Amino acid sequence: MCGVFGIVNHKDAANLVYLGLYALQHRGQESAGIASVSLDGTLSETNIGTPIGSSGTGEQIIAPGTPQIHVEKEMGHVADIFTHERLSRLPGDTAIGHVRYSTAGGSMLCNAQPLVASTSKGPVALSHNGNLINGAELRRQLEEEGAIFNTMSDTEVILHLIARSRERDLERALIDALSRVKGAYSIAMLAPGRVYAARDPYGFRPLVLGRLADSLVVSSETCAFDLIEADAIREVRAGEVVVMECGTTAAATLRVVHQFPSQREARCIFEHVYFSRPDSVVFGTNVAESRKRFGAQLAREHPVDADVVIPVPDSGLFAALGYAQESGIPFQFGLVRNHYVGRTFIEPKQTIRNFGVKVKLNPVREIVAGKRIVLIDDSIVRGTTSKKIVRMLKQFGAKEVHMRISSPPTTGPCYYGIDTPQRRELIASSKSVEEIRNFIEADSLGYLSEQGMLNAVRNGDDPQRLYCTACFTGKYPILQEEQNLEAALRA
Ligand code: AMP
Repeated sequence: MCGVFGIVNHKDAANLVYLGLYALQHRGQESAGIASVSLDGTLSETNIGTPIGSSGTGEQIIAPGTPQIHVEKEMGHVADIFTHERLSRLPGDTAIGHVRYSTAGGSMLCNAQPLVASTSKGPVALSHNGNLINGAELRRQLEEEGAIFNTMSDTEVILHLIARSRERDLERALIDALSRVKGAYSIAMLAPGRVYAARDPYGFRPLVLGRLADSLVVSSETCAFDLIEADAIREVRAGEVVVMECGTTAAATLRVVHQFPSQREARCIFEHVYFSRPDSVVFGTNVAESRKRFGAQLAREHPVDADVVIPVPDSGLFAALGYAQESGIPFQFGLVRNHYVGRTFIEPKQTIRNFGVKVKLNPVREIVAGKRIVLIDDSIVRGTTSKKIVRMLKQFGAKEVHMRISSPPTTGPCYYGIDTPQRRELIASSKSVEEIRNFIEADSLGYLSEQGMLNAVRNGDDPQRLYCTACFTGKYPILQEEQNLEAALRA
């Protein structure tokens, strides 16, 4: 999963992107990068002509006589990567950024974004959130035609399609490229004095536009706007391509470049269940509010006679609040999270994941001992974390642990950018609710229903046609054969 951010017309563009990425850190912790464009930069003696995706430091595509794209990217967290010195190497009033957690292409520096390219239509940099389901197929075709790829990421396919488009104008080439890719993309593309923002016709991943005085901003989530004190304007619509430009007037301008036809929307429901930050407004709804409604609905669907409602922090927090309010059972912080450990699941190495579970959470004995607990989390993936938490609570004296999950059983992988593991690793793909209960050693287990979840998101008249629920229902909005092919290639 990834986060994208961009700004035009601000003298501290790179610094603001840095702040934006800081707020989007939860969307990806493997690598982060910022690209800026200056119109009067000096020639760098190093890294001249460095190819796409290589070298995290000082990578520049030099076009003598300007404009120039500067990029700084590295493996790790935003706060660790960007020093004053690094930010000072990102001049210009227009910039984009990216935080990455790999869902297509491995976890390594060459895949870190933004990807930069020098094309016949000018220099560009690209940040992408989502997975292209025909990325591998397009890459094969391009390679057969002689294209040289520098990364394993499907994002590079978009750059190649832009570079090779017969359209001579960058804007038309972008539309041409996007008309050939299928799947999920929310992108920010940097060009001199401009940032293009686009969302695929299904609108799988979020992307919002905002204003900060004379600047325009684009972000995966509104929480980044709150940090820099920008006002949200609206979402980039499904299938829409817009451009934010430093114009002739003092203020940046927003222009709709293209609207691809959109048969139906397929907003990722998992953004509301788990992924997005609770203080963000995603797809027009505040995430904390929808999670509270999931919890309240869960209490109606699966009531328990218990003493205390305890969330698994942080993922179960708001759903637990909703459950407690609806059921009247007191809410307590019975599990304390060590905030200095990363999100366990997001760490790609198995050894770290297992270790992480143990160091991440600790029960409060005084709250837990002798109690009948309703334990709330947002989802069960493999079931291993949940099992450890239930065991820990029992070791600390819990009388009963009733697990309640604020989404339906996760039965299928995501092909559109969430890192759900392969089907065989998903416990609910092969086990019944009773078998899962038995595996995690809980006294009872209840999942929120699909309809309950969709009603709780409460946005639009027909949530069935607005949201993608494929990981819970197997109803994939884009053809299954393509996904199977892609999955086979990725495996
Ligand atoms: P487990 O019991 O091992 O299946 O782990 C369940 C935990 O994984 C829950 O706390 C979820 O919030 C979390 N989780 C679910 N999906 C993801 C994801 N795609 N990335 C990271 N964590 C996730």
